[in-house]
Amino acid sequence: MVLAGLVWTIVSGISVENAAELRAPGGPAMFAGSMTGLVGSYLTLIMVLLVSRIPTIERVLGQDGLLRWHRTLGPWPLSLIGLHAVLTTFGYAESAKAGFWHQLGTFISGYPDMLAATVALGLMALAGVTSIRAVRRRLRRETWWVVHLYLYLALALAFAHVLALGPSFVGHPLTRAVWVAAWLATVGVVLAYRFGLPLVRSFRHRLVVEEVREETPGVFSVICTGRHLERLPVAGGQFLQWRFLTRHLWWQAHPYSLSALPRPPYLRLTVKVIGDHSAAVSHLAPGTRVMIEGPYGAFTREAQRDRRVAMFAGGIGVTAIRSLLEDLVPGSAPVVVVRVTRAEDFALRSEMEPLVEALGGALHVIVGGRRRVRFDHQTLADLVPDLATRDVYVCGPERFTHHVAFLARHLGVHKHRLHYEVFAL
Ligand SMILES: Cc1cc2nc3c(=O)[nH]c(=O)nc-3n(C[C@H](O)[C@H](O)[C@H](O)COP(=O)(O)OP(=O)(O)OC[C@H]3O[C@@H](n4cnc5c(N)ncnc54)[C@H](O)[C@@H]3O)c2cc1C
Repeated sequence: MVLAGLVWTIVSGISVENAAELRAPGGPAMFAGSMTGLVGSYLTLIMVLLVSRIPTIERVLGQDGLLRWHRTLGPWPLSLIGLHAVLTTFGYAESAKAGFWHQLGTFISGYPDMLAATVALGLMALAGVTSIRAVRRRLRRETWWVVHLYLYLALALAFAHVLALGPSFVGHPLTRAVWVAAWLATVGVVLAYRFGLPLVRSFRHRLVVEEVREETPGVFSVICTGRHLERLPVAGGQFLQWRFLTRHLWWQAHPYSLSALPRPPYLRLTVKVIGDHSAAVSHLAPGTRVMIEGPYGAFTREAQRDRRVAMFAGGIGVTAIRSLLEDLVPGSAPVVVVRVTRAEDFALRSEMEPLVEALGGALHVIVGGRRRVRFDHQTLADLVPDLATRDVYVCGPERFTHHVAFLARHLGVHKHRLHYEVFAL
């Protein structure tokens, strides 16, 4: 369907061109500018849909798959739209026998909606620059997030100039109607899934912090109470975006996995303190109201292909593994490997041991820092000799998760049997 939309976009761009226009001065640049603009806008629409939290997409791709797609596609819309601006200006300048900068000035000051479109391009460029890994690492996540929010403003600002000036739309009411419908539908989806559904869920369940309990040094469980939690469609291993309604936290939602399946009226998350938000969560007062978005994620039993599983948790990655364990079917015989720097860092251990035992599995703990304690092919092969015949679930920090996934693939685990959740964006 995505491909069909792309083909339609390209065809609608090509079909309005004629040979005379192409041969005219500036014609090829204008045509290329129009095509890059069209395809860039279409890919932008796909990007918006990817992050609009449509439950089916979330379930099929999972958080990690979504991120991969987002990162792969991300540079294209911006590059194409940037190219569109340059090529179109160049084409018009050639046609008017004017200079590039003069033409750019004429566009901005004299053409309908072009000033707004130029601001939109600036906002997109800003989002692009802040997404470059090296830049992003230096930014606070909140800053990066706010810059990304401006992208919605950029799309709104750019929309009018497309319809007012795009050769595929001027004088082509059908193409125009399809384009408007596609964008309106996308806005509807964003409003429904990013705002509507979370509001409905939060109102339905009315979560309130009941207690914050220290599990291990620097790791805290937040126990919430709520209504109708038996109706929350959540599976072990999934996460929610949590918004705690205090004076300082209400404006930001952070992802935390459920560390246990709901036990109505209780719902629990377990948080390791690593920065501002997680530190504030560890000090939440009983009675704090909580809004939720989700549940999200494909790190669930549903992904399982085979009966038996192996599970790897790095540090606080135990949260998702803990709730997933509760959801496994008898006979899964999970071999669970937990890697922690110090023995006392293993949170929820006393809950995981009986769960693993009840499922006929085994729990291994590897204690020690990366440099001191080896964790390689041999370690994995020794701990789980039949690894290649099991479904493998890996959860934790990015480096740990990708390392274990790499080792598992090397030891013959098929990619469809490898499921992972990275605790980072
Ligand atoms: C799917 C998923 C499930 C998670 N489950 C848990 C869990 O059960 N328990 C737990 O302790 N942690 C979990 N995390 C990690 C948790 O979201 C971050 O530790 C937390 O948001 C850090 O925020 P901070 O302000 O305390 O730290 P910061 O200093 O702001 O961030 C530290 C690092 O955390 C990551 N991070 C920060 N904010 C976010 C965000 N909004 N979304 C995604 N990543 C972010 C970034 O990689 C950042 O570099 C999960 C993350 C993801 C993506």
